[in-house]
Formats: sequence, C-alpha cells, structure tokens
Amino acid sequence: MRSLPLGRYPTPVERVDGLSTAHAELWVKRDDRTNDVYGGNKVRKLEWLLADARARGAKRIVTVGAAGSHHVLATTYFGRREGFEVEALLVPQPRTDHVVEVLRAGIALGLHAVPVRSWASAALAMAYRRATTGKGTRFIPVGGSSVVGAMGYVVAARELAAQVRAGAMPEPDYCVVALGSGGTAAGLAAGLAAEGMKTRVVGVCVSDPLWALRFLSLRLARACARRITSPPGVRSARLSTDPRFIGRGYGHGTPEGDDATRDAGAAGLALDPTYTAKAFASALWHVRARRGRVILYWHTLSSAPMQPLLEGAPKEGELAPRLRVLFLTTI
Ligand SMILES: *Cc1c(COP(=O)(O)O)cnc(C)c1O
Repeated sequence: MRSLPLGRYPTPVERVDGLSTAHAELWVKRDDRTNDVYGGNKVRKLEWLLADARARGAKRIVTVGAAGSHHVLATTYFGRREGFEVEALLVPQPRTDHVVEVLRAGIALGLHAVPVRSWASAALAMAYRRATTGKGTRFIPVGGSSVVGAMGYVVAARELAAQVRAGAMPEPDYCVVALGSGGTAAGLAAGLAAEGMKTRVVGVCVSDPLWALRFLSLRLARACARRITSPPGVRSARLSTDPRFIGRGYGHGTPEGDDATRDAGAAGLALDPTYTAKAFASALWHVRARRGRVILYWHTLSSAPMQPLLEGAPKEGELAPRLRVLFLTTI
C-alpha cells in the first residue's frame, strides 16, 4: 500500500540552545510543522489510515476521541479534503479554550459529531456500529493508533535516521514523546530498531490506565516491526513509559507542565496542557538527570494557526446543547 502524501518532510531537527546544558543536549523534532494548515503527529498517521480506507473502497470514516481530540480534527480536515464523510463519537473532557476551538473547527469542517457519555459508552457504541454498518465505512480506533496508523511513525524514524546520518543532529540517546494512545511512540520504537539506532523511546503517559498503555504500546511496536521487511524484534528496553507527569489524568493541566510550557515558550515552542506540556516536562527532567546524553523531544502539537480553521465556525454558545455538555467544568 502507498501512503497518501499529506505532509511536508523531512520536518526540521533543531538544537534548543537555551535549554541545553554543559552536560546534556536538548533537540526538538518539529512535527508541529508536518502541514501548514494543520500539523502535528496525526498527519503522518492519516497518510496511512486514509490510504487504507481508500484502498478498501470506503466512503465514510467513523472514529472516536475526546471532545477536543486532535485526531478527530485532523481526520475531519484531511478526510473531508480527500472526499470522505467523517463521523466521530466524542467523549467529554475538561474544558479549555483550546478544546472548545478544536471542536468548533471540526464542526465547521463538516464533522458529524456524536456525543457519548463516557469511554465505556464509546466502546459499546463503536462495537455496535461495527456490527451493524455495511461496507463503505472504515473504522479508525482512538488516536489513529492501529498498526496502519503507526506506520507513519515507522517512516518518521527512518526520516530521523537519515537526518542523523546526514549530520543534521547527533544520534539521540533518548527520544521523549507524549503517549496518549501509543501509536506515535510504538511506530518510533519499531522504526528506530529497524534502523539500528541506539535511541530509546520514552513515552510520557498522558492518559491511563498506565499499565494498559505500557502493555499495548509495546505490543503495537512489535506488531509494527512484524509488518516491515526483515524486522528486528523490539526489545522492551527500546520503549519505556514515564508515568510521573500525568497529574490528575487526561486533559488536566499540572504545575510541572505549566513550568515546562514557560520554559518552552522562552525557547520559541508553544505547548498544550494535555499532551506536550507533560512530555516536555519529562524531556527537561531527562536533560537534568542524564549527563552526557543527547535528548530529542519529539514535538507532536500542530503549530499552524487555528484561525483559518475556525472560519465560519459556530461560536461556543451556538453549539448544540448536546455538544456543549462535552466540555467539563469543575466548580
Ligand atoms: C494525539 C496526540 C499525541 C499522542 O499520540 P499517540 O500516538 O496517541 O500516543 C501527542 N501529542 C499531541 C499534540 C497529540 O495530538
């Protein structure tokens, strides 16, 4: 299967001078710039997922995510552009301005949003639809983290290996990346193993349960490795998970994340509280704790401006009440 070209590659690798120390170097892989309209890590996954849907003759995509899911927004933008209908089951999450904007943009782009109460309801509703929907619909799991989607990150690891060989950066000892549904970290682990790199992937958990994420992401990495030619195995040391930065759970900001966001901002990188603030906090910990090492923080958040995507979008107050309840507020 050929992937659909949606992004612009290679994305740059840059040394973060202001946050490197005399003892350790911090580098960043700029996957925030995979696409000028909507970037981030979902672009590479969708190149494979949408190609697969098209190859199977699907006209409609059904997926699932939190209310402000970047995966759902990216699937809507690129899926609609490629001529698919896109429907998503959406689960409530803590309200932030960014979460609201992501849902508004999705609606403006033609997303058919189906709110459900909880992840348990989402799982049941997905199972029901799979059982009762005919050909012509392709189901994409949460975060796009199937073997097909993760292939985007197997290829991304190959891209990094070529940059290292070309002298664009030293070979990293650690590659630190946010781990939500695991496809990004798993694909990278399989791809780095295939390239014979020494780099270990640290997946910074932003959702839970942690033990399930650890198990499932390693299993996904091994499934990716089996899919590529002459696969080396993926040893468990290749992919570790860092559970320390999740705080109260998915979508809840943390003080460490806020500090990391400030430091990143001074170095010219914008972070979000759900994924990248927590991952960057772990990357900074690695810089302090791992003397003599090269740390690569893999940036997964789109840095494209949201404004063009919000053109003609309903205001928050204009969203249907059944959608507005997806934004959780604490009192
Ligand atoms: C989806 C997402 C992730 C998590 O990637 P997974 O492959 O689901 O683990 C990380 N960062 C951002 C900004 C995302 O949108």
